[in-house]
Amino acid sequence: PIEPAAPRARRSAQARVVWGARVVTVGGDAPVRVQSMTNTDTQDAIATAIQVKELAVAGSELVRITVNTPEAAQQVPYIREQLDRMGIDVPLVGDFHYNGHRLLTEFPGCAQALSKYRINPGNVGKGDKKDRQFAQMIEAALRWDKPVRIGVNWGSLDQELLAQLMDENARRDPPWDAKQVMYEALITSALQSARLAEELGMRHEQVLLSCKVSGVQDLISVYRELARRCDYPLHLGLTEAGMATKGTVASAVAMGILLQEGIGDTIRVSLTPQPGEARTQEVVIASEILQALGLRSFVPSVTACPGCGRTTSTTFQELAKQIDDFLRAQMPVWRAKYPGVEKMKVAVMGCIVNGPGESKHADIGISLPGTGEAPAAPVFIDGQKAMTLRGDNIANEFHQIVENYIEK
Ligand code: SF4
Repeated sequence: PIEPAAPRARRSAQARVVWGARVVTVGGDAPVRVQSMTNTDTQDAIATAIQVKELAVAGSELVRITVNTPEAAQQVPYIREQLDRMGIDVPLVGDFHYNGHRLLTEFPGCAQALSKYRINPGNVGKGDKKDRQFAQMIEAALRWDKPVRIGVNWGSLDQELLAQLMDENARRDPPWDAKQVMYEALITSALQSARLAEELGMRHEQVLLSCKVSGVQDLISVYRELARRCDYPLHLGLTEAGMATKGTVASAVAMGILLQEGIGDTIRVSLTPQPGEARTQEVVIASEILQALGLRSFVPSVTACPGCGRTTSTTFQELAKQIDDFLRAQMPVWRAKYPGVEKMKVAVMGCIVNGPGESKHADIGISLPGTGEAPAAPVFIDGQKAMTLRGDNIANEFHQIVENYIEK
């Protein structure tokens, strides 16, 4: 028999990211978590709180905000307070670069209101200062009992470490190519900092790692090796993935391959938003990646054919979109009311060729009449033909049938 494909099990340690009663586990046997990041100025506490809320409502289980200045750090407790008032308990992650040691030390309210700190070892300080400033950030994490992510990025890689590895490479015979040295520098930077964090007192499982790059094959190479060398929970993401279709496809391909191999405990899709495009789009895409791989279910899935010369009208496309929009819109209420509804499958098909077959595979499906077919649309429920719809009101009737099915 042919073995059905499935994502491999992960083997990482499990971190806990906590705010109040809300505990988001990352790694181990926890589901792969969706996270995102705001693009508001953190100094603008109201705008940031609103965007955090939007991202959380869209399904982001952790939301990162940049904490780049004393003014921003000062606003963090206020942002947290606003969210708590709105009943949004999503944990906030502070993104620190260059001055995180100062901000976390001088603004204890900020350090406390955040649930996790992102530390970039590439810009935590240079020379003698590096270890001291890193230690200051770890001291804050220990004091407030927060996990940290050692977030390495090839756009801000530790240049001293890279120079050292290039020197070592010059003595290697034959030498590695420049890319291989870069990979090694990314991974070494993350692992060295993680080891240092543990030496300073962090518990192993409270250290998460990421090594982000912007090329698909580079990401796969780096994360495969990172996962081989450690069991820290891994934050996975293609950095600077780009805009719209390109960014979406690149993220889905890179993360899909790694997740299938059991690599990655939390994901972020880093899209450059188009003018007018909602920030929440990256959360939708991250969720879709996990759902497409069968790792998690967030919304009922709608199977629809692309349509072809056999389709007589655009009715089926409109109906597929309408049903998809409707199911997504209902999810905030349905999730609590109808446990398991997110696993439901609905099919909306354009003609008799694949329509009945695909509809039978779904929980509920409809096959609209194609060219030359009788003007009738059979509806299948739980694999059985349940009824046939006719006339001009097929879309509305099917809509009602779906609603009734879910309620039942
Ligand atoms: Fe075309 Fe029918 Fe296939 Fe849809 S199901 S793509 S309408 S042949």
